[in-house]
Amino acid sequence: MKGGRTLTFRYHTSDKLTNLQAQSLVSKLTYSLEGISACYLDGENQDIVIHANDDSNRSQIEDTVLLLMEQERTIRTLKSRVIRNVSTNDDNYKSPFPGASYHPDWSFASDGSVRRDFAVMLYQSIDGILSNLAMERHAKYRKYPSMIPLKTLDKCGYVTTFPQNIYLVSEIPHQSDILQKIKKTGDVESNLRQSQYALSPAVCFHCYEELAGQTLEHPVILTALGTCYRHEATWRLGNQRLNEFSMREVVLIGTPDFVESERNWWVDCIWKLFGDLGLTGRIETANDPFYFSDDAAKAQHQQMANMKYELVVEVDGGTQTFSIASFNNIREALCKPFRITDAADKPLHSGCIAFGIDRWVFSLLKKYGEDPGKWQPHIAEMMRFS
Ligand code: ATP
Ligand code: ZN
Ligand code: MG
Repeated sequence: MKGGRTLTFRYHTSDKLTNLQAQSLVSKLTYSLEGISACYLDGENQDIVIHANDDSNRSQIEDTVLLLMEQERTIRTLKSRVIRNVSTNDDNYKSPFPGASYHPDWSFASDGSVRRDFAVMLYQSIDGILSNLAMERHAKYRKYPSMIPLKTLDKCGYVTTFPQNIYLVSEIPHQSDILQKIKKTGDVESNLRQSQYALSPAVCFHCYEELAGQTLEHPVILTALGTCYRHEATWRLGNQRLNEFSMREVVLIGTPDFVESERNWWVDCIWKLFGDLGLTGRIETANDPFYFSDDAAKAQHQQMANMKYELVVEVDGGTQTFSIASFNNIREALCKPFRITDAADKPLHSGCIAFGIDRWVFSLLKKYGEDPGKWQPHIAEMMRFS
């Protein structure tokens, strides 16, 4: 079927995949195809629908869908379990908030290119609340660079597990003839080389590098706000999904009991904050977006062992949902390769609480609008801008 110049391709999955498998397949296809402008599951018949920019890569799309579908059939995809829930349909939910005005291109440009005025204040307010909570938990403050050595990411297993998300940094060699060539031809691309750095996809990896090789006698909590970068499919970018975003992380390192109980403190505390801010949604078990089918067991393990919880917000009356925070207990996974140990030389446990600040700002603007004077006074007061 043709719609303008865009072509729509449909692939039946209901005879081959469960609904969860089909959802998982869609999230992998998102990172598997170029030259498309949409990829989603048709809710009625579980078809995978792909909008292609033209007909030139039809067979490549088809081959990829069929190949990944065969792989997906062999994977048992586990359903998320909801552990906290306040739904948009609850009695006390009122949406849109009376008086809410929202003009996406005014303070929160939907393409992520600029934040203005009130939206900038909201970034500071949200981060202020989170960083004060971290201070209450005796966290130590940190600030890390945007670039991270590839060696560090490699040690975290990131390069081979999530290559689809990495932004690498290239550089021009300090070599006179190459610099001259660029000056003369303007051709940068064929004179580049890969640097030793990537743009950091998360904040916590820096903490492990900082503490590498140390023996810790007491638990450590570090917190930092950072800019994170992820290569997302171009057609999915906008509003809450950006390729550059602000993340505050609280990183926990200590005994297994310490990490788990501290993570649970954060789950309870942030759930209360979420409710006090009048937001609706749920906390549920989750797994990282593993791309390769041979990492499927890791995803199952994360789900079954409650290693990752996500706080999922509902906006626009529940028609849009996305995670605004994750609460991760990764056990020995990173303390081991970074040799962060207890006094008996055993790897410690660790975890992190990660907040996507842009998504908190976006959710609040969506819910209450852009005029701070119209916000409910108690919420304005919580945000400290009243
Ligand atoms: P998602 O499920 O939305 O793809 P994720 O599971 O990859 O995100 P984490 O690795 O847990 O996310 O990152 C922590 C937090 O960072 C997320 O809960 C979210 O708030 C934020 N985040 C992640 N990716 C993006 C993005 N592309 N744009 C804006 N915020 C993001
Ligand atoms: Zn983290
Ligand atoms: Mg996720």
